[in-house]
Amino acid sequence: MTEWFRETLHRDYQIGLRIEEVLFEERSTHQHLLLFRNARFGKVLALDGVVQTTEADEFIYHEMLSHLPMLAHGKVRRVLIVGGGDGGLLEEVLKHRTLEQAVQVEIDASVVEFAKTHLRSICGGAYEDPRTELVIADGLKYVAETDRRFDLIVVDSTDPVGPGEVLFTRAFYADCRRCLTPGGVLVTQNGVPFVQTEELQHSVGLFRELFAEGTCYLATVPTYAGGPMAFGWATDNTALREVPPETLQARFAAAGIETRYYTPAVHAGAFALPRYVADWIA
Ligand code: SAM
Repeated sequence: MTEWFRETLHRDYQIGLRIEEVLFEERSTHQHLLLFRNARFGKVLALDGVVQTTEADEFIYHEMLSHLPMLAHGKVRRVLIVGGGDGGLLEEVLKHRTLEQAVQVEIDASVVEFAKTHLRSICGGAYEDPRTELVIADGLKYVAETDRRFDLIVVDSTDPVGPGEVLFTRAFYADCRRCLTPGGVLVTQNGVPFVQTEELQHSVGLFRELFAEGTCYLATVPTYAGGPMAFGWATDNTALREVPPETLQARFAAAGIETRYYTPAVHAGAFALPRYVADWIA
């Protein structure tokens, strides 16, 4: 009999992925972790019944969460990643040679250990890079207590259920703002607007209360089904969203990074919101 993984994120909408082989399964103190192989998506990581990343399409998600804000800012020396235990985002930010430090705060040590053993195709050698500092802690608590400042904060969290819920709160976003250098940027994993409308409205509403600018940009990631997914964008530097294409092109060329999804043209277009999304966050 064929076994299917059915994602349990939405009450009235499900995606299914055929399980060729279960590679690993464990219940950690924080969540249920499952790794299986699917013929189209390769290795698939699910936490608490929700797909987190897959070998085949992680590049779209991780490139758009890293290169877009880094090239928009242009001078990111220090990055804070909240969540992101699979290491895919960390690997992308470290491709910027000008980056001096990447602090990653992940609540679940077992996700990181697991990625180092089973997901090298996604995290590469990111956890061994001398610029990486891994902190095992709750992101909410970390940003509330740290004195450190970052040019960019990226929230690569699970959805707002379970341990990830606190990463969608006013208190968390306010502390992120405090931890940014002047003109720094906060970007967030903000779900698929068509099926997670309230989540996006909630986050962007809070960004607009706390920052000079709050919006989102979009990219289509096949495993996060239901339409394009949204990445939250919050900053006090409103110029960062309007960096001229030739400047983005020059920064991208100088960075010398090879990408499969990100291009400066995709970057500019990602902020163009379809009317239904613009209306929902208006
Ligand atoms: N790309 C993914 C998605 O959209 O489904 C997110 C991937 S990443 C694996 C999410 C990580 O966030 C998990 O490893 C989880 O342990 C971590 N996480 C959840 N809540 C957290 C918290 N409060 N503080 C720090 N990390 C957290």
